[in-house]
Amino acid sequence: MSDYLFHNQQLALIAGTMISMMLFLLWDDFNKRSGASQNIQTRWPGNLFLAALNTLLVVFALEPALKPVSQFIAELLHNKLGWIAPLTHTEYHWIVYFIPAILVYELVDYVIHRFAHRLPWLWRLHATHHTDTRVDATTAHRHHPLEIVVNSFLGAPFLVAIGVPIMVAIWHPLIRMVLIAFNHSNSLLPDWLDKPLSYVLATPNFHRIHHFSERQYTNSNYGTIFSFYDHLFGTAKYLPKAELETKEIGLEYLRNDRENNPLGLLISPASTVFSASDRVRNPNNN
Ligand SMILES: [Zn+2]
Repeated sequence: MSDYLFHNQQLALIAGTMISMMLFLLWDDFNKRSGASQNIQTRWPGNLFLAALNTLLVVFALEPALKPVSQFIAELLHNKLGWIAPLTHTEYHWIVYFIPAILVYELVDYVIHRFAHRLPWLWRLHATHHTDTRVDATTAHRHHPLEIVVNSFLGAPFLVAIGVPIMVAIWHPLIRMVLIAFNHSNSLLPDWLDKPLSYVLATPNFHRIHHFSERQYTNSNYGTIFSFYDHLFGTAKYLPKAELETKEIGLEYLRNDRENNPLGLLISPASTVFSASDRVRNPNNN
């Protein structure tokens, strides 16, 4: 399996994106959590456009572009600072380093995500993800392409510094793909299961709170795979399932359906709404 993935990374990433998204859309359908109330006619064209664009961007442009950049950073760290990446220079099997690597990767993702909610220029890009007025597995891929590019280059030095075992680099995005489709699904877990699980994993209940329009909730629950960084750094919020159903999803100041078409989503970071001085548009103000 790992050998096959090694030789077919691009195909695996494209197939993983499509299959995981379809799987959790079917899960919503099975749980009677899809249908007209999900506004799929206005949401899905833009979300699916970004899913396709971002997957192609990652597979055919970003990964090839990041390879020489990562190589350059690795040589710089090694030659100038004498740094030896702990997870690369090892004689152990890659599986030994799988958990530590994922923990560091997700910590880097958590920190970048918090910055995306703090820095206005990063928020302009990240807001595209938050303007969806419903959530389902298509929301998982509703990211502005520039955000994907910026985050990849911001994270690269940290990943290179700890080392990127090749099999971790292959398995991590696939696992991530399945889990982001899971935690963006519209199917909520029962409280008895969600409460213990959400101490470790970003469950659909846990991540839904991050998509609420009230900023005290938008600026919480940043973890993408794990929730324990939020618990550790004091950004975790919990609501029981009954209350999750009553809250508005999206951003209160960007709810126009025009923003949901492919072109609208691409140009949305330039929206004048971000230039307004109203504190509501500034993620720094809680
Ligand atoms: Zn966010």
